[in-house]
Amino acid sequence: MRQTELVERVRSYDPEADEDLLNKAYVYAMHAHGKQLRASGDPYFAHPLEVAAILTELKLDVATIVTALLHDTIEDTSVTFDDIKRDFGEEIAILVDGVTKLSQLEVFSERTKQAENFRKLMLAITSDVRVLLVKLADRLHNMRTLNYISKPDKRHRIAQETIDLYAPLAGRIGMQNMREELEDLAFADLNPEARNSIVTRLDRLKDTSGDRIGRIADQIKRRLAEEGIEAWVSGRAKRPWSIWRKLREKQLNFQQLSDILGFRVIVATTDDCYRALGVLHQSWRMIPDRFKDFISNPKTNGYQSIHTTVMGPENQRVEVQIRTQQMHEVAERGVAAHWRYREHVGEREPPEKALEWLRDMVDLLERGDSAEEFFDHSKLNLYQDQVFCFTPKGDLIALPRGATPIDFAYAVHTDLGNTTVGVKVNGAHVPLHTALGNGDQVEIIRTKDAAPSALWEQFVVTGRARAEIRRFLRHAQRDENIAFGKRILEKSFSDLNLELTDKAIEEVARKLRLSKPEDVYAELGRGALRAQEVVEAVFPEIKRDPDRNKLAQFSQPGEHKTISIRGLTEGISYKLGSCCHPLPGDRIVGIMVPGQGAIIHTIDCGELEKAQSAIADWLDVSWGKYAADLGPSIARIAVRVENAPGSLAAVMTVISNNGGNIFNLKVLARNPLFFDFTVDIEVRDVAHLQNIIGALRVNAAVESVDRVRGPQEGDDLERSEQSDSG
Ligand code: MN
Repeated sequence: MRQTELVERVRSYDPEADEDLLNKAYVYAMHAHGKQLRASGDPYFAHPLEVAAILTELKLDVATIVTALLHDTIEDTSVTFDDIKRDFGEEIAILVDGVTKLSQLEVFSERTKQAENFRKLMLAITSDVRVLLVKLADRLHNMRTLNYISKPDKRHRIAQETIDLYAPLAGRIGMQNMREELEDLAFADLNPEARNSIVTRLDRLKDTSGDRIGRIADQIKRRLAEEGIEAWVSGRAKRPWSIWRKLREKQLNFQQLSDILGFRVIVATTDDCYRALGVLHQSWRMIPDRFKDFISNPKTNGYQSIHTTVMGPENQRVEVQIRTQQMHEVAERGVAAHWRYREHVGEREPPEKALEWLRDMVDLLERGDSAEEFFDHSKLNLYQDQVFCFTPKGDLIALPRGATPIDFAYAVHTDLGNTTVGVKVNGAHVPLHTALGNGDQVEIIRTKDAAPSALWEQFVVTGRARAEIRRFLRHAQRDENIAFGKRILEKSFSDLNLELTDKAIEEVARKLRLSKPEDVYAELGRGALRAQEVVEAVFPEIKRDPDRNKLAQFSQPGEHKTISIRGLTEGISYKLGSCCHPLPGDRIVGIMVPGQGAIIHTIDCGELEKAQSAIADWLDVSWGKYAADLGPSIARIAVRVENAPGSLAAVMTVISNNGGNIFNLKVLARNPLFFDFTVDIEVRDVAHLQNIIGALRVNAAVESVDRVRGPQEGDDLERSEQSDSG
């Protein structure tokens, strides 16, 4: 094709096309490719020119045609993005750059078997659907000239990729003709024997029945004309690939294949479609279960037609598609047809708007939403919430946007995540918290003895990474607890001149219903169990022998029972603040309130801030030595658990297993992920509460636990007592 021919083609459907720009791009690309040759021996420039020609068949705009002419310049010549931007403007530079990016991805597609993900990646990095159209036309021309590639491996790879990736992509955006041609060209390379035998049989069929297609088309046309319906009727044999697919999928043989012949009836209006359908069904017997009305139920890609199969004029099953001219445009050109249609109808809409709409349409097609939705919402964007990255082997990993190399590593394998120490993205070292981008090649650097850092939790975005990090840290914590628990017990036993044996610990585990002896140490280490309890479990007589019971003295307070707060004048009444719930063991401050006596707060209570001005009135108080033995105090904790069955029960179990008595429980919030509540627990003292909090924090169901220091609505938790000591 020559320069003038290309320009004329564009002007035939767009009389106002910018001729100068087309000519300039033609000359520019021809010079840029210079003496480069194609595998066929043709000058390289013949390729972009043919790609442009394919796109004129789809009646695309000048920017797209120019992009087609320039599409290989950035990749294959010395021309840069900036050169194109300077000479052709930003819009075209961005389009060419988009095509280049898609081409660069092909290196990876060679090694990835995840066609579906790969297709998504292509769409994710394509901001303008015209880029996709150029890429498809590029592939179509490369497939048309595939036979010039001498290496069979390379040919098969390209053909397979076309079947897996590009043909479905063309189909999804409604370009059925392109899809069929791509499939058929790939079929010819991948399975020439099968294709040849189908072609041979189709030829033989034609020989025996003469111009059957022409005769049937004439008859259909005549019947419709008799009923006053003007129609354009055409027929054809199905493509070898689609026949092959049917033969394989339905396990039929060639003779059984009913719909080798397909006919199209194109009429003026939607009304005529239904009238034509009536005429066909009255003239020839309709085959049950083959009727589909895509006019009242359009496909998601906008395709509309009525499909039916009848026992046709020559006693052969024929499939007939009935549609209007406009429906036909959509069926033939898909997205491209929508774009033209929209551009001309919606004069008020600027072209960018039409393109945006187009892109959105592709988005919706990909999402598989209904056609209705597609017309209602046009603002959605495709895969914007995802990034697609490659492993060094070319596997494609889909992650949520904002995902980091740590998320990536855990997505590949838990072991990889747990042993990650660094990362290279596209060959360069970057920090582990770097957000990954589409198409990044991610190489995780690991060492065998590495361990996840608790800090990672702050930047990972996938639930999997977070859960694995926590799981690992919990295990690490457990190891630490076991070591610590062992030390505590060894010390306690030696202090009492008792012998600590494995057998004794096994016995304790059995008594305490712990599954393994080492659980005894772990429970001790995390504070859920006291050394005293273990000692008593091994030597029950210790409890009864006060002389040897050095560890038990706090639970035998004797006559000191009534002393609780030190530093108060004798006889002054006091209350524990309902704001902060002080516990024996907390550092405390008293504030005199007229008519109420002393209110005891924890040193970090927010209420003290308010009483700052009256700092002189603060009473320097502390807990009496045996305050904890006066009976339980009430503490409040705020707990967040996963909103999952059994979470709440797990919390209750942990609290009661650790000697806490639940006094009250209040649900604060519940959402699909979490369940927030406060629990008021009777505890002995701060240490006891801390044990409970610690035990909750290591529980898998628990997201967070904190002691509540502020007042709460509807609070009636107060303890009023009479001080009797100074
Ligand atoms: Mn190309």
